Amino acid sequence: MSVHVRFAPSPTGSLHLGSALTALLNRLFASKRGGTMLLRIDDTDAERTVSGAESAILADLGWLGIGWDEGPVRQSARIERHVEAANAAEHTTIREGALYLSAPGVRPFVIVRGDGRPTYHWATVVDDLDFGITHVIRGGDHRANEDLHAAGFRALGAEPPEFIHHAVVLGADGKLSKREGDASVADLRAAGYPPQAVVNMLGLVASSGPGEVLDMDELVARFDPERIARGDVRLDPARLRSLSAMHLARLGSAELVEAVLPFCGPGTPAAAVAAMAPALRGAHTLVEAAELVACVLDTPSERATLPELADLRRELPEHLDEMQARAFVDELRRRGIPLRSARLALTGRTTGPELWAVLAALPRDEAVRRAA
Ligand code: GLU
Repeated sequence: MSVHVRFAPSPTGSLHLGSALTALLNRLFASKRGGTMLLRIDDTDAERTVSGAESAILADLGWLGIGWDEGPVRQSARIERHVEAANAAEHTTIREGALYLSAPGVRPFVIVRGDGRPTYHWATVVDDLDFGITHVIRGGDHRANEDLHAAGFRALGAEPPEFIHHAVVLGADGKLSKREGDASVADLRAAGYPPQAVVNMLGLVASSGPGEVLDMDELVARFDPERIARGDVRLDPARLRSLSAMHLARLGSAELVEAVLPFCGPGTPAAAVAAMAPALRGAHTLVEAAELVACVLDTPSERATLPELADLRRELPEHLDEMQARAFVDELRRRGIPLRSARLALTGRTTGPELWAVLAALPRDEAVRRAA
């Protein structure tokens, strides 16, 4: 039987990292097994549905590069079918106006409320059954629902799918952690992490291998459902940062420019960013890369000259690559020129991107003009 999985977010806001992990694991599982993935929007709970959340989730998935094969299907469009299935199920009883499933081995639970609305537990069972879902892969916070959902399948005369409950994602510190324990995909996007790094980090949760740089195809190739982490996982911001730097370094110039430009000030010329591409590849995030662009394009408002630096720079080629720029920094050190003064002369600032990157990004004439 071919594999059919689903990712079933509730439209309550932008994707949290835990949900992004669920989406990715379903995608990897389907791709690895030559199966398909359904996107289902669990919107039966009207009070919890947030307007705009569904399109935010779709946009987040698109940004991450996690595609689906079928859907989106909205549960709210299938309420009649959920009620029809409830009326046909075995072991149901009506109590206090609501329809309960009182199946052997599990506590009785409501499947259709007094006002005629199916519950999440029931809608999920009916949809998983009708759409032929073979494997339910979701966060460990749903582990306690497995018995209820399996009982629901049996009450409809069907065998339950296989349930795989993966690790719950916990924030590692104040920055990544939020009220509900993890940051959202949108937060990481705004912080300038490229999607490849976010997917890579989440993908590593599904394998206990070292922190290698992997793209989606490589993640699929390495994916082994047996190795999905089941306990809690903490995402390590340092690991995300280093994966981010490695993925940015891998981008072609055109891709890098396209990724950095939205983080730059309005009107930043693409050609100017392209000219700095080699230096930008040293950045850890797109925000950092954009800071470097700003350091180069914004002429310092106050001059803080450093003639010795200008003299040294004049002797070198128009553009410095990373090695040459790092060697230049070493030379400044050797000559006892304070790097802080060099930074101030070149950028008018006392903090900012690494000095070598500034040197690699500033063409010779501009560097000399600022420092002389
Ligand atoms: N809609 C549920 C959630 O977002 C997932 C339901 C499921 O995977 O069974 O937590």
